[in-house]
Amino acid sequence: MSYPHLLAPITIGNLELRNRVVMGSMHTGLEDSRRDLAALAAYFAERARGGVGLIVTGGYAPNKRGWLKPFASELTTRLQSMRHREITGAVHDEGGAIALQVLHAGRYGYHPLSVSASNKKSPITPFRPRALSTNGVDQTATDFAETVALAVKAGYDAVEIMGSEGYLINQFLAARTNDRNDAWGGTAERRMRFPLEVVRRSRDLVGADFPIVYRISLLDLVEGGQTWDEVVTLAHQLEEAGVTVLNTGIGWHEARVPTIITQVPRGAWRSATARLKAEVSIPVCASNRINTPELAEEILAAGEADLVSMARPLLADAFFVEKAATSRADEINTCIACNQACLDHVFKNRKASCLVNPRACRETTLVLGPTKRAATVAVVGAGPAGLATAVSAAERGFAVTLFEKSEALGGQFRLAMAVPGKEEFAETLRYFTRRLEVLGVEVRLRTEATAGDLASYDEVVVATGVVGRVPDLDGIDHPSVVSYADVLTGVVVPGKRVAVVGAGGIGVDVSHFLTHDPADDLDDWMAHWGVGDPGVHPGGLTERKPRTPIREVTLLQRKTTPIGVDLGKTSGWAHRAVLKQSGVVQVNGVTYDRVDDEGLHYSVDGTPHVLAVDHVVLCAGQESVRDLYDELGGGAHLIGGADVAAELDAKRAIEQGTRLVAAL
Ligand code: NAP
Ligand code: SF4
Repeated sequence: MSYPHLLAPITIGNLELRNRVVMGSMHTGLEDSRRDLAALAAYFAERARGGVGLIVTGGYAPNKRGWLKPFASELTTRLQSMRHREITGAVHDEGGAIALQVLHAGRYGYHPLSVSASNKKSPITPFRPRALSTNGVDQTATDFAETVALAVKAGYDAVEIMGSEGYLINQFLAARTNDRNDAWGGTAERRMRFPLEVVRRSRDLVGADFPIVYRISLLDLVEGGQTWDEVVTLAHQLEEAGVTVLNTGIGWHEARVPTIITQVPRGAWRSATARLKAEVSIPVCASNRINTPELAEEILAAGEADLVSMARPLLADAFFVEKAATSRADEINTCIACNQACLDHVFKNRKASCLVNPRACRETTLVLGPTKRAATVAVVGAGPAGLATAVSAAERGFAVTLFEKSEALGGQFRLAMAVPGKEEFAETLRYFTRRLEVLGVEVRLRTEATAGDLASYDEVVVATGVVGRVPDLDGIDHPSVVSYADVLTGVVVPGKRVAVVGAGGIGVDVSHFLTHDPADDLDDWMAHWGVGDPGVHPGGLTERKPRTPIREVTLLQRKTTPIGVDLGKTSGWAHRAVLKQSGVVQVNGVTYDRVDDEGLHYSVDGTPHVLAVDHVVLCAGQESVRDLYDELGGGAHLIGGADVAAELDAKRAIEQGTRLVAAL
C-alpha cells in the first residue's frame, strides 16, 4: 500500500514539511539535564533520518513555576537557547524540522512552587498550587512568548503551545479549575483570555509567518470540563490570534477515562478531530491511538485532519516514515500502546525508552553496529527474548539460526494478544516474523534443539522461557483445573462461573478475558467509560453504561495487599477499573485448601469458604525452563524468563536480548 495523503508535503507558515507525520511531544527525561543534550540530539536526529515530517520536543517550561518537577526542563535564557542549537542542528543535518513545545505544568507541577488559575489541588499531585495574581497571569503570558522567541533563536522551525492534557492553559480554560473573578476568569470568554494572550504575544515577537502550533483540548474528560461550544469558540479565536496549526489533545491527565493505552481502540478519537476540522480553516492535526500508516492515511484521506501526530510510534520505530514510503510498512516496529517503558518510566522519574525498541533514547549507548566477527549464533526459543536476540544479531551481520519447539513464533506473547485490548501484541509478532524473513534468519519451528544440534555454533543463546507454575494444592488434577495458557489459546472454554487463582498481571488479564463481551464495539467502549457527545455533556463526560460480564469471575490471591497494585503506573488504574466494571469479585489474603466436585475451597483468616465454580484457572506465576541450559554446562548465554521467571515481562526480555547482542 502507498500512502499518498500521509506522504504529501504541506506548508505551515514559512515551513514546508516533507510529509504529514508529526512526531508528537513526549517527555523522555532527557530534556531535564544539560548532560543529556547529546543523547537527546541523537534521539531526534535518528527520527529525522527516518523521514518524519515534524518533530515536537518534550515540554519546556517558560518559567520555574511551570516546571513539571524540580529543576525540570525550561527554556528561559539566551544561553540555554544557544545550547539547544545542538538539537536543532542535528535534526536539520538530517533534513528534518523540529518544533519546541512550551509547557507550563500549572497545578500538575510536582514541586512546591506550582501555580494555577486557582488554588485547587489536582488529584494526581501532592502539592497545592498558589493561585496566580492578576499580574502574575499577565507575566506568565509574557514568559510563554519569550520562550517562543528563544526557540526561534535556538533554531527551532516551529513551536507548539501546550494547551491540553490538563496543564496550566487547560486549567485556565475549564470552569472546574478557574473560578477567578478578575479579567482572567469568571465567564467563558475571560477564561479563554490567557491562551489568546499567550498566542498574541508570541505572534508579536516572532513575526507573521513563523509556525505556531497550538495543542487544543477537544475532550477534557473531566467533570466541569469545557463545553464543545467553548472549544469551537476558542479554536476560532486562536485562529484569529495567529495560530498556524491546531494539534489536538484528548483528556486531562487526571481523567479516569483511558485515552492512549492499548485497551483504547485504535483511532478512537478521530471523530472529535474531524468535528473540529469542520469548524476551522487552518490545518488540524489528529492524535492519540494512531499507530500505523494505514490508519493515519485513512484519517487524512477521509478529510478528518491535515496532519497526524504519533509520539510513541516514533519512539518504537525511528524509521516509521521511511519504511512506509518504501513499501516496507510490514517491517515497522509498531507501538503496542503498553506505556511500560515510555510513560511508566517518565512517571517514575526514569528516562523513557520503549518496550519493543530498547534503543529508543539510548541511541548513543545501546549501539548495534555491524560486527567484524564472522560468527554463527544459535538462539533457542522464539518468545520475545529469543526473537529480539535473533533479529538484533542478524542486523549486526551474524549468521543466525532460531530454534522453536512449538509450531509458531511468539511464546508468551501469543497468549497476551488474545486478551481484549491487547490485540496490538500481534503487531510485534508480525514485525519480528517479517524481520527474520528479510534478514535471512534460519527459523526451525517444531524443533526442540539438543546440545548436539548446538555444538557447532560460535554463540548459543538459550531463551527457552517459562512454564506456568502449578501450585501444590489438593485436587490440582481435578478436571475443572486448567492453565491460563489453555484458556487464552481457546483449548478450554470455561463455564459460566470461574475462579482465577493468582492476581498478577496475567490473573487480571485472564479475568478481563473471561468477562469481556466479544460483541462490544467502539460505541460500547465509549459508553462503558462514560464518554458522551461533548456538544451535550461538558468535557465529553456522561454516565457510564454498566458492562454485562459474560461470566461470574472471582479473582484470588494469598497476599493481603490490594489486587493489581503492582500493575503499570499509567495503565494499572484502568485495568483495575475494568475488573470493577465487570463485576469481578476480588479476594485477597486467601489460603487455598483444595479443589473438588463442589468447587474451590479456600479460607480467609481461618474461615473456610467454598466457591462453586465450573473452572479454576491457574495464573500462579511462572517457572524458568532451563533443562537445555543446564545440559550445555554453562557454555551458553541465558536470557529472558529462562534466566529469571519472577516478574518476567516482555520489556525485560527484549532489552536483555538486545543488550546481549550489542556486547557479542
Ligand atoms: P506474577 O505477577 O508473578 O503473579 C503471580 C500470581 O500468582 C501472584 O498473584 C501470586 O500471588 C500468585 N502465586 C504465586 N505462587 C503461587 C502459588 N504457589 N499458589 C498460588 N498462587 C501463587 O505472574 P503473572 O501474573 O503470571 O505475570 C507474569 C508477568 O507478566 C508479570 O510480572 C508482569 O510483568 C507481566 N504481565 C504484565 C501485565 C500488565 O498488565 N502490565 C499483564 C500480564 C502480564 P500470591 O502469592 O499473593 O497468591
Ligand atoms: Fe509504545 Fe510501549 Fe514502546 Fe511506549 S513502551 S512507545 S507504549 S511500545
